[in-house]
Amino acid sequence: ADFKGKVDPDWCPGCGDFGVLAAVQKALVELQIPKHEVATISGIGCSSNFPGFIDTYGMHTLHGRSLPVASGMKLANHAMTVLVTGGDGDGFGIGAGHFMHTMRRNIDLTYLVMDNQIYGLTTGQTSPTSRPGMKTKSMPFGNLEAPVNPISLALAAGATFVARGFSADQKHLTELIKRGIEHKGFSFIDIFSPCVTYNHDNTFQWFRPRVKKLEDNPAYDPTDWTGAMEKSLLWGEEIPIGLFFERTDVPTLHEAEPVLKPGPLVQQEIRIPADVAKSFIDELM
Ligand code: SF4
Repeated sequence: ADFKGKVDPDWCPGCGDFGVLAAVQKALVELQIPKHEVATISGIGCSSNFPGFIDTYGMHTLHGRSLPVASGMKLANHAMTVLVTGGDGDGFGIGAGHFMHTMRRNIDLTYLVMDNQIYGLTTGQTSPTSRPGMKTKSMPFGNLEAPVNPISLALAAGATFVARGFSADQKHLTELIKRGIEHKGFSFIDIFSPCVTYNHDNTFQWFRPRVKKLEDNPAYDPTDWTGAMEKSLLWGEEIPIGLFFERTDVPTLHEAEPVLKPGPLVQQEIRIPADVAKSFIDELM
């Protein structure tokens, strides 16, 4: 299985999202997960077209609503590997509330945000992660707002796996995605995925000399939450990528929920009295 979708991506040539798609497909192949056990759920935005370009089950949902749909899917059938894909506007703007609550529930999803620090699909407006001073169509005199820091936000909300990748570093990103999928609980991977058409500040060339892998420092301990929070605040000449934080001692929601303990809901017997089931079906007919 190569997970190649039936439709070719319609992203602009050179868009960072191509690298993320390739890394996800490679990670799934290397983990040898059967296609019928994977679902890819997205919101709205350039990167949210992702489920159309990968051969898994999938759903392109509403703007900012990918996480609730994915949560429902995971709880109905927690035997599935559920990936959630989207952009910074979708995830940290309109979807910010869902982002917080899915993390604190530790639902076993892998959330991949293609963070290009701009709204690409709507042709270049300031997004929640746009840097201060950046000139866009919606802020022609420069961004006046402080950007969201997705890594520190995820740490503060209790995410049990927090990482950052770079679309141009395929090997590193593929390994991060594999670890995220294997992690039991909510895995969040923020991925620098440059928008080559509308973001002329945070380009591949801008990121390349700045990104530094946490894994290259043997003293870095990804089980140390305080150390991870400190690293998350770095921005400028040095921007860390890699696994910031992981803990494995928190049960996932489906492990903690008594109704789900016997197994995925889709494999459980329907245990409602026959007359109740009949009246329910009659009502639907
Ligand atoms: Fe990628 Fe930007 Fe083009 Fe959207 S507008 S496809 S984010 S390069």
